[in-house]
Formats: sequence, C-alpha cells, structure tokens
Amino acid sequence: MAKLPKAATLLAWYRRHRRRLPWRAEPGETADPYRVWLSEVMLQQTTVKAVLPFFERFLLRFPTPQHLARAPLEEVLKLWAGMGYYARARNLHACVLEILERHGGRFPDNEEKLRALPGIGDYTAAAIASIAFGRKATPIDGNIERVITRLFAVETPLPAAKPEIRAHAEGLTPNRNAGDFAQAMMDLGATICSPKNPACAFCPWNDVCVARARGDMETFPRKIPKASGALRRGVAFVAQRADGAILLRTRPEKGLLGGMTEVPTTEWSANFDFGSAVSSAPAIKAKWQRLPGTVAHTFTHFPLELTVFKTTVPKGTKAPEGLRWSPARDVAGEALPTVMRKVISHAQENSHRNAKSASRRALAGRDTRAGNR
Ligand code: SF4
Repeated sequence: MAKLPKAATLLAWYRRHRRRLPWRAEPGETADPYRVWLSEVMLQQTTVKAVLPFFERFLLRFPTPQHLARAPLEEVLKLWAGMGYYARARNLHACVLEILERHGGRFPDNEEKLRALPGIGDYTAAAIASIAFGRKATPIDGNIERVITRLFAVETPLPAAKPEIRAHAEGLTPNRNAGDFAQAMMDLGATICSPKNPACAFCPWNDVCVARARGDMETFPRKIPKASGALRRGVAFVAQRADGAILLRTRPEKGLLGGMTEVPTTEWSANFDFGSAVSSAPAIKAKWQRLPGTVAHTFTHFPLELTVFKTTVPKGTKAPEGLRWSPARDVAGEALPTVMRKVISHAQENSHRNAKSASRRALAGRDTRAGNR
C-alpha cells in the first residue's frame, strides 16, 4: 500500500528550515494576531520580499490596532500605495474600527468570528485562528493548493478541485501545532514546491508525493485555460501649474482603485474613441499636447493602455470643481496607484526631454552665432 504523507514529517522539517519573518513568533512565543492579520492581508497577492518593507513601515507608523484605527483612511491609503489592491487597505481600516467597536480592541479567536470582519475571508480567518490562537484550522492559498494537488495527484482542474484539495489538507492538519503546520505548508509551497522546477530533493514528503513518483509535478494543479480581459484604452490628462503643482482628483470610494488619487482621465474601454477624448479634459483654459508613446499597465482582469495629454498653465489657474492642485512637494506622498505614478513620470520625462532638446537647440544657435563671428 502506498505511504501517506504525515504532518509530523513536515513539522520536523519546519523546525529546522522555517523562514524567520517579522510577523512570526519565535519558537515558544505566541504570535501577535495583529501582526499575523496585517501580514496575511498584505501577502494575499504579492510576495514576502515585496511585503517586507511595507510591513515594517506600517508597523512603525501603526504599532497597534488602536493606532491604525485612529489614523485617517487617507493616511492608510498613502502608506499602502504601491502595493495595489486598494480595496484591501480600505477593508484593513474598516476591520480595525470594527475590532475596536465590537471586540474591545482584541481580535476574535475563532474562524467564524474572524470571517465576519471586513476583508477577512476563509484563508485569512484560518491563518489567524491557527497561527495566533492555536486553533485547528487549515488555511489554503495558491501555494498550498499546489503542494496538495502534487502530493495526491489531484486530476480535477481548478477551481472545481477546491473541495477535494480542502479534504486532503484538512485530513493532514494535526490537532496540535496547527499554526506551525499551516506555516510549514506556506514555507514548503513558497521555497521548495515552486511552480517551475520544484526542489523535490529537499522536500520532506518526497518519498510519498504521487506527482514526484510519476515525474509530472509541474503539470499540477490542473487548470482550465482562462481568457484574459480585452485591452482597454483611455486618455490621462496631466495639468501642471507653473509652480509645479499637479491637478488631481479622488476616485469614487467603490470600484477599481476606489478612494485613490488620480490625474483626470477619460473612461477606459475596449472600444475607446480618441476623437471624443479632449471633451473629457478638465475644464481649465489650456492647450493640451498629446505626448508620444503610451503608458501600459496590467490589472488583474484587464490590460490598460493610456495615452497622455499634458499642459502647463499659469500659477493662478483655479482647479475646476471636484479637482485640486497638489503642490509639487506633496505629489510623491499622494495616494497615487502605480498606474498614475507611471502616467505622471511619463509626462515629466517628456517635459525633461523637451527642455533638454530646447536647450540643445539654444546652444546650437549660440554656437552657430559664435562660428559666424
Ligand atoms: S516532492 Fe516535489 S512536487 Fe511533491 S510536494 Fe515535494 S516539492 Fe512538491
């Protein structure tokens, strides 16, 4: 009969090879639910390496749930800028407010109550319950799905395979040390059982892994190919005042990049009509110049291509209703999503290029005059 994977084997491996991370407790210490929650929310779509500096900065500014709850949402969004998925930052704030108002400032210690909080789904609830409170819970993310589908050679494609994966993962979860087991699974998926070229030679379960025995590890998890969203296009308007201030507005609270700051843009659509773009420009007296090139950005469900129009206006120009001038020194600290940072730097690079070629032309003119003398 085939040998089955055992939790004890993975836990022994974890004791020797665990990653040391700022939100993790040292052996014998209890993990802080606030740190575990913050790290799990940040890690939902990005890597540990990308999260580390954001986590340190957040914790320095908001060392406790109380500090985070007292901060204005705008400040939370600013510290989050660059990590994407801004709805998470808004939920983060809503979540600590609820913890303060309904739970006396303490995280609830079971999955059900955790799941009822804003922004906490099945995975995060199970991660906090097991890691910070020692409950028997099984968080399952993409990394863990990969490990399980390979270990058991789960042939059903995702997402239909999810119940099967959960049944296997729960079957493996030990009654004690469920938090260490969850973190061991996370580490195994992140460092050994990688999507390409898994390092099976170093895997503590390599003698029981069905996919490894067959040699088709990389084909798991099975997936149904999904169509990616159609390319959307639009125009972004960068208006700069003579003193360097940039015209900005805040996006609606709900929807994509909700509550974030942006330069005014047209709608973004697959059948965008450039002819009507200038009618969406902000209502200021200005001569708009279309810049060469475009700014490309990929969101989770569609790629975007923005053409940038730029103008420079006198210092006394008033901001139209719903827009505001952000002084040059404040622009970097605005809650601008990555796509908007790309748009502004595209506009500024063009200005520098134009200024350089103007000064080259002026110099060439001087040289010619000097040659004529
Ligand atoms: S043996 Fe290889 S494929 Fe199987 S779980 Fe370990 S690393 Fe993943």
